[in-house]
Amino acid sequence: MYKPTLDYAQQLDKEDNLAHLRAQFHIPKDTKGNDWLYFTGNSLGLQPKQTQQYIQQELDDWAKYGVEGHFEARNPWMPYHEFLTNSMANIVGAKPLEVVVMNTLTTNLHLLMVSFYQPTKTKYKIVIESDAFPSDRYAVQSQLKFHGFDTEEGLIEWKPREGEELLRIEDLEKIVDDQGDEIALLLIGGVNYYTGQYLDIKRIAEIGQAKNCMVGIDLAHGAGNISPELHDSGVDFAAWCTYKYLNSGPGSLAGLFVHEKHAHNKELPRFAGWWNHNKETRFNMRQPFDVMPGAEGWQLSNPPILSMAAIRASLDMFEEVGMEALRAKSEKLTGYFEYLINQIDTGSIKIITPSNPKERGCQLSIQVKNADKSLHKKLTENNIITDWREPDVIRCAPVPMYNSFEDVYRMVEILKTLL
Ligand SMILES: *Cc1c(COP(=O)(O)O)cnc(C)c1O
Repeated sequence: MYKPTLDYAQQLDKEDNLAHLRAQFHIPKDTKGNDWLYFTGNSLGLQPKQTQQYIQQELDDWAKYGVEGHFEARNPWMPYHEFLTNSMANIVGAKPLEVVVMNTLTTNLHLLMVSFYQPTKTKYKIVIESDAFPSDRYAVQSQLKFHGFDTEEGLIEWKPREGEELLRIEDLEKIVDDQGDEIALLLIGGVNYYTGQYLDIKRIAEIGQAKNCMVGIDLAHGAGNISPELHDSGVDFAAWCTYKYLNSGPGSLAGLFVHEKHAHNKELPRFAGWWNHNKETRFNMRQPFDVMPGAEGWQLSNPPILSMAAIRASLDMFEEVGMEALRAKSEKLTGYFEYLINQIDTGSIKIITPSNPKERGCQLSIQVKNADKSLHKKLTENNIITDWREPDVIRCAPVPMYNSFEDVYRMVEILKTLL
């Protein structure tokens, strides 16, 4: 079906009904004006051209109205976070009540663990993937320590089997079957940042909850990449950043999901601030704390509007295109990428990401035997922006919003000459 030629790649771009989106982004260029082949949307998504205008609107209204902008701005700042909720909920498959944009990812994980990691003397352990993103590992270790537990003994790693790279759900099942009485929480990356493996979130929720463990999912590499259907999955909570696939700018705010089943539980332990207090009486100032239902009940502070404006610019694009169309293109684009890599006639290259499109997002993690970081350097010198993970893995994410079939074709042609 696919063909390994430039003509064919260009033909796929012509047939792609999302191809026009690329022109709505700033694509970084080299000094001669050639577009970079940008494959690191999994690390920092590119800037939508309309972001500037969305931020400018808030700067203008701040200049014009000062504090009155909270009510008088074209997009009043007081409820500004609410403008993001519906489109964010659509992206992750949640109800609006279950989602809010606030803080940053690791901060949100901690706030969620305040509520959902409630260890007892005997049921206190936390399960993570052995290849968990370092921030998540540090976060759960510090939670263990904070509650007075040993950070080694209290941490259970779900590992790939000897000689394998990917995780098997049966192995998680066995861990929870055997040790579930001691486990308080499963905190798992929905799409693994290293291998690109997309895990069965619903199954993880079932496995954990069968033994009364809380289940949280880190969707940093999932949001805007795959459709996790968070509500139906039944996971207790989730969090994700918006600067990767959600194109909202470096260090931008994060998303938080709390399942509807916890939405009205006022007894859950949680940290408080004025922004999770009842909106109706928030400005009466002298009221006792009255927590809001749903995900908004985890907010603390009034949020940074300039960062939210950038998120809004991006989410408006997602809302217009829809995850379904993006996913359809993504499967095709990554499928073509995989096909071209598999055409490379050398035994030294191996894709460690699952080959089943249902078990991955757009990223492919390519292992190059005996390679070192000089390969990554050479790719960069050739305008190919990828991410290198020691000892020998190149992570590449062709993003359906702005990467083309031609990008993928050119990348593999250059890789071939460098091998
Ligand atoms: C990118 C990423 C982070 C980064 O956390 P911040 O709090 O946004 O700095 C954390 N966890 C995972 C799994 C990630 O992919």
